[in-house]
Amino acid sequence: MPSDMIRQSEYGIFINNQYHSSAKNFAVTNPATGETLTEVPDAGASDTLAAIDAAAAALPAWSATPAIERAAMLRKAAALMLERRERLATIMTLEQGKPLTESRGEIAYAASFFSWFAGEAERVYGQIVPAAAPNKRILVMRQPVGVCALITPWNFPSAMLTRKIAPALAAGCTVICKPAEQTPLSALELGRIFIDAGIPAGVVNILPALDPIPFSETIFADDRVRKVSFTGSTEVGRILIRSSAQTVKRISLELGGNAPFIVFDDADLDAAVKGAVASKFRNSGQTCICANRIFVQSAVYDAFAEKFTAAVANLKVGSGLESDTMIGPLIDHPALEKVTRHVQDAVSKGAQIMTGGAPLPAQFNPTGTFWTPTVLLNVSPHMLVTQEETFGPVAPLIRFETEDEVLALANDTPFGLSAYFYSQNVSRVMRVAEKLEFGIIGANDALPSTANAPFGGVKQSGLGREGGAFGIDEYLEVKYVSMGV
Ligand code: NAD
Repeated sequence: MPSDMIRQSEYGIFINNQYHSSAKNFAVTNPATGETLTEVPDAGASDTLAAIDAAAAALPAWSATPAIERAAMLRKAAALMLERRERLATIMTLEQGKPLTESRGEIAYAASFFSWFAGEAERVYGQIVPAAAPNKRILVMRQPVGVCALITPWNFPSAMLTRKIAPALAAGCTVICKPAEQTPLSALELGRIFIDAGIPAGVVNILPALDPIPFSETIFADDRVRKVSFTGSTEVGRILIRSSAQTVKRISLELGGNAPFIVFDDADLDAAVKGAVASKFRNSGQTCICANRIFVQSAVYDAFAEKFTAAVANLKVGSGLESDTMIGPLIDHPALEKVTRHVQDAVSKGAQIMTGGAPLPAQFNPTGTFWTPTVLLNVSPHMLVTQEETFGPVAPLIRFETEDEVLALANDTPFGLSAYFYSQNVSRVMRVAEKLEFGIIGANDALPSTANAPFGGVKQSGLGREGGAFGIDEYLEVKYVSMGV
């Protein structure tokens, strides 16, 4: 049984390279079956304080370790993740629900942050700036921020964490991490990787917790924590901005989106259909950058709807452990309720269901959270499904006439994470890419995520960037030395 590998493993609060128990535990559940996979200790305020102590004690030696040595450990961590990919991917599918092929892909993506930032660690350059006076010299240094607290969501339990840990360690920071309560096992598995990669005790600490508040209150009250990096909902992001005022911490936020996916009449229609399916239905539509509003130009609307519906109707729904599954369960019942509410609202306002539109029949739906991939036709911008992140396998198709009209509709949202469009007209590609008010643009590309590029949102989708050459800046302070000579 795949779940035996979880039962045979030790999962504790990971502090100082050791797993610790706690007075309280909480259950980790398989969203595809409802079974309890295991219990993990529930970290509270005193555990958080112990983790901050460990991270603060490890900071001087880690930040003084030559970058080339830190980089070697990060490369080793990447290699170990790939070596243990099958185990890590299976555990991810068991606790998160996504199909095993997607979990394998996420492990490779998660590992790529260690390799990428190993390179960046070796290139944290300063500057020598021409001074204004002949008897002065100006030196600019970039130094690690210090102890960082990292908070991550359940939808990418491994990659969202390594996207933060890798640049932090590359910069010379130490970290305390709080994974989402639904998916602590993928995070805790990383502890063993760090030990085997030779990363010293206290550099990375991982705290599973059912209630995020004791962790949150402790880190924000503590002056030793100099930076908080968060990935999750915009609602919680706002709370964290307010909390960061208390001890004036640096803060990076990767928040929610409401991505438009635009198909112009000069698009390669087959490529657009394939891209829309990949963008919308990956991880059962539970990704922050997934297409949430699909705008299709009038002349190709019917043809696109027909091809797209045929492709969506073919997506197999089931347990992520079955090799042909493409859509797993939703993470939990609140997620199911949101999807149901969005579909019912759209239908009550005139949308037409082309395929799906309901949960899987009860005999194939042990938890009730498996939703049939859905295409909605004749959707208009006043429906909930276009205004909020649905976070489920529901694709609303909206008709438009002109480029100006669709740009106005696409930008008419407080969010600005990712946007996609398909067109074969090179002038339009440039023009539209410039006018879309989003941090990530997929121009004839539905899968833009990569460790090599700066990922992040504008407007209410966040602050800061992760990945690329920019990602390490989030974990570095700039200091300048004015030297009299
Ligand atoms: P969430 O905001 O509820 O939870 C995210 C994390 O924050 C979890 O670890 C949770 O325990 C913790 N948390 C919740 N309340 C908190 C509080 N008051 N103080 C401190 N921590 C708290 O989000 P979620 O439902 O787990 O994730 C889905 C959301 O994340 C979606 O909106 C999605 O768009 C977003 N997301 C964004 C990105 C990105 O890169 N921009 C990536 C993945 C997910």
